[in-house]
Amino acid sequence: MAPLPKPHSPTVEAILAAYESDSRDGFRPHLGASLIGKECERALWFDFRWTTRSQFSGRMLRLFETGQLEENRFVRNLRRTGATVLDVDPQTGRQWRVAACDGHFGGSLDAAAVGILEAPKTWHVCEFKTHNASSFAELRKEGVKKAKPQHYAQMQIYMHLTGMSRALYLAVNKDCDDLYSERVRADEAEALRLLAKAERIIRAERPPMGVSVDPSWYQCRMCNHHPVCHEGQSVERNCRTCLHSTPAQHGLWVCSPIERLLVIDEQKAGCTAHLFIPDLVAGEQVDADPKGGWVEYRLRDGSLWRDGGMPC
Ligand code: SF4
Ligand code: SF4
Repeated sequence: MAPLPKPHSPTVEAILAAYESDSRDGFRPHLGASLIGKECERALWFDFRWTTRSQFSGRMLRLFETGQLEENRFVRNLRRTGATVLDVDPQTGRQWRVAACDGHFGGSLDAAAVGILEAPKTWHVCEFKTHNASSFAELRKEGVKKAKPQHYAQMQIYMHLTGMSRALYLAVNKDCDDLYSERVRADEAEALRLLAKAERIIRAERPPMGVSVDPSWYQCRMCNHHPVCHEGQSVERNCRTCLHSTPAQHGLWVCSPIERLLVIDEQKAGCTAHLFIPDLVAGEQVDADPKGGWVEYRLRDGSLWRDGGMPC
């Protein structure tokens, strides 16, 4: 018998469509501490250089929101144990933010807490995460450092940049509400290694080597940059993919021809003088005219393509 078609629900479709229409482009201003533990530096560089627009389904966007909603619940739960939990920075009244590398690297803590039952006098960076059943089982078996190295790296950066010596990792199994907690000790050498990695990615003018040149490698198959990295797909046009831009101080970027700092909205818009960073074009550079503002490439199919040359 042929499979029955899935039931069609206009309500569900409308809910999910609303998530998609409200979603942003996924271009973070900075390189996120939550991602720095990712093994592939090339993928991190692509993130930082806004090569690939995020395109998540409404279902995935709602799932991300589930994780965010759980944070408030964890704060309430921890307070009921007697802990003092600061989910915002008392000095700013906003989320705790940490930054490094001239403001190009950083992230937001879920909370800071003291009065944790296992070590009541020690301030802890709090990191709250939701897991599916198999991820939760692995976490329980292996611990956060081995099971979730990205989360471990994120906490190391937060501890290093806040000066706290411990982190509290609290996780929930979304299937059954089972909870897991682990106290993580600051590892200065690891934090410095991660900061050096961030600095290397931010200052790189070209995409670094990736984890594999094999498009079927397991990490590549799950990577949202796969089409750009392995298939020659063209990248987004904005200041971050333009060879005239450089990260500057205070998290800003500078454009060399106009010698001016660019704010985020300007970076997203780019301008008609945009020229792609040559490594982001799937072809060989064959000619260029700096005065005319163009670069010519021979593409993989043998055709010629001229980048730029538009009036400013
Ligand atoms: S496709 Fe693979 S090599 Fe390329 S950026 Fe992604 S993980 Fe790295
Ligand atoms: S030339 Fe235009 S697109 Fe390139 S960095 Fe300057 S403002 Fe941005």
